[in-house]
Amino acid sequence: MTRVFRSPSAYVQGREILETVGEHIDADVDVDVDGDGDGGQAVVIADETVLEIAADPLEAGLEASGFAVDRITFGGGCTHEEIDRLGRHATGADVVVGVGGGRALDVAKAVRSDVDARLITVPTIASTDAPTSSLSVVYTEHGEFDEFRFHGTNPDLVLVDTAVIARAPVRHFRSGIADAIATWYEADTAYRAAAENIFEGRPTRTAHAIARTCHRTIREHGRGAIAAVERDGVTESVEAVVEANTLMSGIGFESGGLAAAHSVHDGLTRVAATHDATHGEKVNLGTLTQLVLEGRETSEIIELIDFSLELGLPVSLSDVGLDDPTDERLRTIAEATCEPFETIHNEPFDVTPAAVRDALLTVDELSQRRRTDDPS
Ligand SMILES: [Zn+2]
Repeated sequence: MTRVFRSPSAYVQGREILETVGEHIDADVDVDVDGDGDGGQAVVIADETVLEIAADPLEAGLEASGFAVDRITFGGGCTHEEIDRLGRHATGADVVVGVGGGRALDVAKAVRSDVDARLITVPTIASTDAPTSSLSVVYTEHGEFDEFRFHGTNPDLVLVDTAVIARAPVRHFRSGIADAIATWYEADTAYRAAAENIFEGRPTRTAHAIARTCHRTIREHGRGAIAAVERDGVTESVEAVVEANTLMSGIGFESGGLAAAHSVHDGLTRVAATHDATHGEKVNLGTLTQLVLEGRETSEIIELIDFSLELGLPVSLSDVGLDDPTDERLRTIAEATCEPFETIHNEPFDVTPAAVRDALLTVDELSQRRRTDDPS
């Protein structure tokens, strides 16, 4: 199998960079996309609240770069209906600019693909890999997972204003850290197993190294960064963790490959009781479950439980809403985790629903004991 690596074309991160957005657009996105000598048409997609925060400096920057700018208000869900609705408004756009959290960016990616434009993503929270990745997670009108849409192209420019990220609720920041912790364990497993990444190629050494650095960065700066964000502050640790959560984790999962942790997440989403837990929170339970499945030493699993507790991340079933993990619920989760299309099959051994259930229960037991041993 050939090795494939893909990434966004440009990534710019810093405090208050939205104020100077025009310079980065000039450097990284050609204004005359269709080559007809005119300035282009830019379409900004964001929900109402985000438009209030970010639209003015962004629009000023786009206009200074020669774009005519249109705003489209995103309704809140990344559904096929919403993608079609926004796509009709964006017809003829040269550049689509998605601003907001994962769903807004995922919608912008799908619209960009439908109208064949350039894409700028501007995340306002650091909770997922959506800003850099090439796919959209599409949900039904009722909020259930529908499908992944693979666009085959990553954003042309990712603009990350760390001052905006630091002012967002810290829970988003923590969730992004959990998603970034999973990146290393999954990419390392996929690499060793020579499994397929999202681009149906073998992971490169480059992607593997990025995933490793992602992990190291979270270990070194995670606690300090959370402390700063609790006070809306931007420090060097915040800069480090935002880069890990957004750029390294994004490349690490797409080009590096996934394994059990994200499949366990997908399984957990099948039970409505977990719907209040974020993506990253469910992924964290998935990472711990993966370690048990892989037969890692107990000390390594406990070490990650302790680190998770220090960061305020979920480590038990009740932490993600499963106060009542009945046999039936556990069966639903474990069977969904092992669906044939799930990346858990990148693990270098056969995985069964029974093994997943037992690993989940083991994580729960270890975590509960850890909490009783050490009430801090
Ligand atoms: Zn994720």
